[in-house]
Amino acid sequence: MKIILVTVDCLRVDALEHMPKLSRLAKEHNSYSKVYANSSYTVSSLKSLLTSTYPLDGGLDFPNFNSASFVESLNHVGDFFTLGFHSNPWMSFYKAYRKGFDHFEDVGITGKGIAPARRTLDKSKGLIDSKEKVFSWFHFMDLHDSAEHGNDWKKLPFEERYKLSLQGLDDVMQEVFDIGDLVILTADHGEELGERGRYGHFSRTPGIPETLLRVPLVIKSDKPGLTSFDGRFSLINIAPTILDYAGVDIPATFKGKSLFDFDENSEKLVVSEIPRFVKHFGMEDTKNIRQICRSFIVGDNKIVVETSLDNMIINMEVESL
Ligand SMILES: [Zn+2]
Repeated sequence: MKIILVTVDCLRVDALEHMPKLSRLAKEHNSYSKVYANSSYTVSSLKSLLTSTYPLDGGLDFPNFNSASFVESLNHVGDFFTLGFHSNPWMSFYKAYRKGFDHFEDVGITGKGIAPARRTLDKSKGLIDSKEKVFSWFHFMDLHDSAEHGNDWKKLPFEERYKLSLQGLDDVMQEVFDIGDLVILTADHGEELGERGRYGHFSRTPGIPETLLRVPLVIKSDKPGLTSFDGRFSLINIAPTILDYAGVDIPATFKGKSLFDFDENSEKLVVSEIPRFVKHFGMEDTKNIRQICRSFIVGDNKIVVETSLDNMIINMEVESL
């Protein structure tokens, strides 16, 4: 049994329009169009993805990883060989990400930026084939603004660079989907490409726009039970889905539900949380939260509430989706 999880940093849901190979795979397998990341910030979104809890569950000691991750369950209970490949500096910095992994590798070239999907994928060659029960997580960084593409690259407009970077990702998609019996492809958050006059995903303006929260989700599964539907749900359901597929008990701390036993009413309240940090000399101090921004989606309504640490409301917006 081979299980593959792919998270693409900054992949907006509408980016698939520029990824013909992934679009074809989305049609061939199960794909969902109204999926929300639980944060627009890598560190907190991936924490939710791994532990099926909300970003700030466990308190403001950020990022709080006290809850068990599905990788630990796969490894310790399911006896899976577990692999992780990435080139995100935060995933190396916070040791909690490697919990439950037999092999967890930062494939970036030190001091020279991040690794493209091709290199990240190549690192796994042989290792996945050599095991019967194996789980592998790939976190691709091709779209991140810090990607190293030479000086001329930096002169191009942001949207142009983003669009061009989709190509390299698209080229490895078929190969990724061929590796696993269960393959789940999604993103940790979206990206602003000029909306609200902003670029990137470290939004400091009020609110959490759809461009930052909506992510693609494509699932290939050789087990029946997945159905495509139009309802909104979030990535906290990915961890229980993987354990359900693997036949491993879902920990009581998980807040999500397996997509093998899911319909459009299964997640009536979609929650996303973004910690906003104190800045020192222009740099975010991730040990020092200043405000919390939360988005609550019920049906087609979205309420965004920004509070200070003592829960005083600073800003509130209601949006019809
Ligand atoms: Zn990210």
